[in-house]
Amino acid sequence: MKNRVGRIIVAILALAAFGFYAYRYEQTHWHSADVEAWGPATGLHPEGFEQGVVMNQEPEAPIQMEYAPAPTEQPAAPAPTEQPVVETVPTEQPLRFDLSEWQYMLVNGDHSIDQYEPENLVYLNMTADETDFQTSFNPNRIAVDARIAQPLMDMALACKAAGLPVYLSSGYRSYADQAANFTRVCQNNGITDGKDSNGHYITMPAGCSEHQTGLCCDITDYYQATKNSSLDDIPTLVWLRENCADYGFIWRFPSDKSDVTGVMGESWHFRYVGQDAAHYIMDNHLTLEEFWQQFGDSASV
Ligand SMILES: [Zn+2]
Repeated sequence: MKNRVGRIIVAILALAAFGFYAYRYEQTHWHSADVEAWGPATGLHPEGFEQGVVMNQEPEAPIQMEYAPAPTEQPAAPAPTEQPVVETVPTEQPLRFDLSEWQYMLVNGDHSIDQYEPENLVYLNMTADETDFQTSFNPNRIAVDARIAQPLMDMALACKAAGLPVYLSSGYRSYADQAANFTRVCQNNGITDGKDSNGHYITMPAGCSEHQTGLCCDITDYYQATKNSSLDDIPTLVWLRENCADYGFIWRFPSDKSDVTGVMGESWHFRYVGQDAAHYIMDNHLTLEEFWQQFGDSASV
């Protein structure tokens, strides 16, 4: 009996030893041989291992390398392109003007209108004692573009209503008239280019006179054989400077803007541009040239 019991114990011990050995073998050899073969198919161990390896070695470093430069480069790149854009926007433009409209026509020593003629002329009484508009040529009246006849007459009547005399001395002049005018003034002053000693026009070459548009008028109190700076402060012209914008007219050649207009100061020359533009120009003491620079295509000025 003792031997049988002893053999049983030995057998149990042997089985236990084999079992323990088998368990240990499984523990130590399981991964190395099989994990790549079937592990990925199960999706269990490989993920765990890959995550462990990848997360510890790669993810954080490359992400920082890629994103770190970005925050510093992104603001730097757009900045230079945005700044110039911002600088062109801030100019205050409470009003917008379509400078292709007829009342903004620009004529000066650099902008000839060549043989331009107004489509419709109207003939006005010079002293505004008669307020009718004649459409047939009348040498005893002045001609203007029909589109400014009403505002010009309204302004003349308002000036007279303020107790001041008005004399509409010169309106539309044709290309031929201006050519003759230019020759005569040049001869009288011993010049050939129509300019005074400061380089400012005292008479414009044909095609370059605003009078050829029919959109302006020389206005004094009475007939004046000679127009010069002695007229600057006569009450009629003072009143006109203060009130012309209400009728759509501007003081076209201010004495202190000769370098801009190229024309000597002419306190008697008023140009129609419409009420909105006239108020803007007179309120800001601008010239038509400066108005074009602000609201037009600078390349065409
Ligand atoms: Zn004039």
